[in-house]
Amino acid sequence: MAKDIDTRLAAAIEARRDDLISLTQDLIRIPTLNPPGRNYRDICDYLDGRLSEQGFQVELVRAEGAPADSERYPRWNIVARRDGRRSGETVHFNSHHDVVEVGNGWSFDPFGGELHEGRIYGRGACDMKGGLAASIIAAEAFIHTCPDFAGAVEISATADEESGGFGGVAYLAQEGWFNPARVQHVIIPEPLNKDRICLGHRGVWWAEIETKGRIAHGSMPFLGDCAVRHMGAVLAEMEATLFPLLATKRTAMPVVPEGAKQSTLNINAIHGGEPVQDADYTGLPAPCVPDRCRITIDRRFLIEEEIGEVKAEVTAMLERVKAVRPSFEYELRDLFEVQPTMTPEGAPVVRSVAHAIEKVLARQPDYVVSPGTYDQKHIDRIGRLKNCIAYGPGILDLAHQPDEWVGVQDMIDSAKVMALTLAELLLPDQPG
Ligand SMILES: [Zn+2]
Repeated sequence: MAKDIDTRLAAAIEARRDDLISLTQDLIRIPTLNPPGRNYRDICDYLDGRLSEQGFQVELVRAEGAPADSERYPRWNIVARRDGRRSGETVHFNSHHDVVEVGNGWSFDPFGGELHEGRIYGRGACDMKGGLAASIIAAEAFIHTCPDFAGAVEISATADEESGGFGGVAYLAQEGWFNPARVQHVIIPEPLNKDRICLGHRGVWWAEIETKGRIAHGSMPFLGDCAVRHMGAVLAEMEATLFPLLATKRTAMPVVPEGAKQSTLNINAIHGGEPVQDADYTGLPAPCVPDRCRITIDRRFLIEEEIGEVKAEVTAMLERVKAVRPSFEYELRDLFEVQPTMTPEGAPVVRSVAHAIEKVLARQPDYVVSPGTYDQKHIDRIGRLKNCIAYGPGILDLAHQPDEWVGVQDMIDSAKVMALTLAELLLPDQPG
């Protein structure tokens, strides 16, 4: 019986191949650029039209008062729910509908959604309108094939993932949409490849370090105190002690790529002295001793590390510099932090997706952890819902690149995995 349902679900997905292609193209053709957050209402209206017709109860939710929400660029989200005929658990597919800027180097129209040799091209094709389309096709095929299902299927398309998710999943989580009493399983179809299950992500700490000096005439630097030289000492200390320390911290999390299996730190920006002038300024700079210098650091940390310890390492490094530089003064400011998260391999949603991958692709899944964060952080920290993964079609390396694409066959295969997952979770009477 169960095998029969799997076969029928796979056939139902195949039968929707053209629909999957045109749905993906339609979504790409709505340029939901973030920042600033364009056309969010348009994409929600488009999805409302489609999902309402399929019998979903649809709600459009504006994240009023969230960062970046404005009358000009309102942060619209959509949540669609289709209840089964019996009570049971809820499986939720969450995709972000925003895309990043286009950038240069395209040979396809970034908002054309062109189909070429089995690939659909456009900004957001893999990250993550292809995943959104695959989850919709999977849900529709499942509902038609198994009308007696228990529980509910939910699909959301949410704003601002690319800029932190505060006008999207974070807002919905605060409003209770991811309360474990109403949603039990969450799948985020980010482009992690059709045979990989992403269990979570590393942690993040962004901070700003400022060194202080005293301004003076550049011809008499001894009358001032150069903040850039102080920062130079910080960078030298970082190279000598902090980077080697981070390289020794390895994680048991299955982070990909390999280089991200350790603690990492990037210096995102550095600035000292007079501001950079506009490109049309034709004059020379003025001779001043810089009285401050700033860097922004991006520290990615492991589930084995405590954020307090991560911060203390940087403070200790700055104190070592202070101990040997008489006039050294600094300030360390927190900008942003996210705790690492990892759903256990034994969690129900992980097991069900793993079974479905085995059946559809005839192989065991790879379990991975993302080097950077995505909306799972809000579902975990605000929603308190642990049974959450990322699983979806597309190749992560193509995200945010020119000529981004998603493969049609990859979307078909992922949609089959998603539909079989729904069958395992929402047809409790079926023998596995
Ligand atoms: Zn994404």
